[in-house]
Order: sequence, then structure tokens, then C-alpha cells
Amino acid sequence: MLLPAPIQDLIDAFARLPGIGPKTASRLTFYLLRAPENLALDLAAALENLQSGTGFCQRCFNITAAENAECEICADESRDASVLCVVEEPLDVLALERTGGFRGRYHVLGGALSPIEGVGPEDLRIRELLARLREEDVREIILATNPSMEGDATAMYLRQQLQPFDVRITRLARGLPVGGDLEYADQNTLLRALAGRQEMEG
Ligand SMILES: [Zn+2]
Repeated sequence: MLLPAPIQDLIDAFARLPGIGPKTASRLTFYLLRAPENLALDLAAALENLQSGTGFCQRCFNITAAENAECEICADESRDASVLCVVEEPLDVLALERTGGFRGRYHVLGGALSPIEGVGPEDLRIRELLARLREEDVREIILATNPSMEGDATAMYLRQQLQPFDVRITRLARGLPVGGDLEYADQNTLLRALAGRQEMEG
């Protein structure tokens, strides 16, 4: 069946989202077609603001409101600037913040090393991390990349890069579901992994 272009276009756009197959994409599109007009307009406005209203924190590369150069965590004077937790994505910051067990600051890499997907060191905010270490008085780096092959490889690589710096390097304790994402770990597991973090051997 040939659908009018505006419908097919939205189905195609939905289908590009993670976890949404062609069937769900069609269902969502036809739902919006029948839904009260303000739902579709609200959705369109929110999507537009998502791009224009947000940006990256210039210090840690967490997500922040576009009008702020730094995110709330970096701007918070009461946070311990001597401990940096290195994570893959802003969602990981959210997961760790939800535990309430970490009072340091973050550095968001923007992904993990993955030769298969063509992600190399220059694609992550590693240069920016090393620059921070030269400028800030950091005493400990917690490598909190995901407990996956890519996350482990990234932690190993960072371990090497951090060698010249006089800084304690730790890795979240095992016990997180292997292959999973930090963002899906429950708060207690994450708290335990944080509390049980161990020196990372070079
Ligand atoms: Zn920040």
C-alpha cells in the first residue's frame, strides 16, 4: 500500500530510532494522525527545542541548557573537584547522580572505543580529559565506563594515557551486570560498585 509522503516520512523517521521497528513506527504515526492536534504540535516543538535549547558543558561535556557554559554539577562549588568520574554518556551521569553516593565531578567521553563501529580515541573527549588534568587539581580518576568489551578497552586505553599524571586511577568494582550499561544498573548495585572501586593496574 502506497502511503502519502507525510505519513511515510514520519514512519521512516520513527523507524530510525533505537528499539523501534517498522510496526511500532507505523502505529505511532497513525496514533499521531488521530490524536488531538496539540499533541503533535507539542511533540514538534519539544523536538525543535531539544536541538536548539541544549548544548554540552564546556568542562565535562555533560548535557546542559544552551544558555549555560557549564552544567549544574561543574558549576556547583560544593562538589569535590579532586575526584573525576569518567563515563561514556550523559545518561551515565544521571544514573550515578541518582545513587546520591558521588560528590565529585564528571567527564563525559561521548562513547567508547569500538574498532567495529569505527570509534577511535580521537572521536572521544580524551584530549579534553588530559587537558583538564593539567589545569585542575585532580587527585583521583574513577574509570566508570560500561562493563562491556568496549568499556573495558576504553578504560585500559585511558589507564595508559593517564600514566604520566600523578593521580590515583580506579575502576568501578565488578558486580555490575557484564555487557550491560551503567544506566540500567540499579542504584544499590551502582553504589556498591562505586564504594568497592579498585586501583587499576597498568
Ligand atoms: Zn559539566
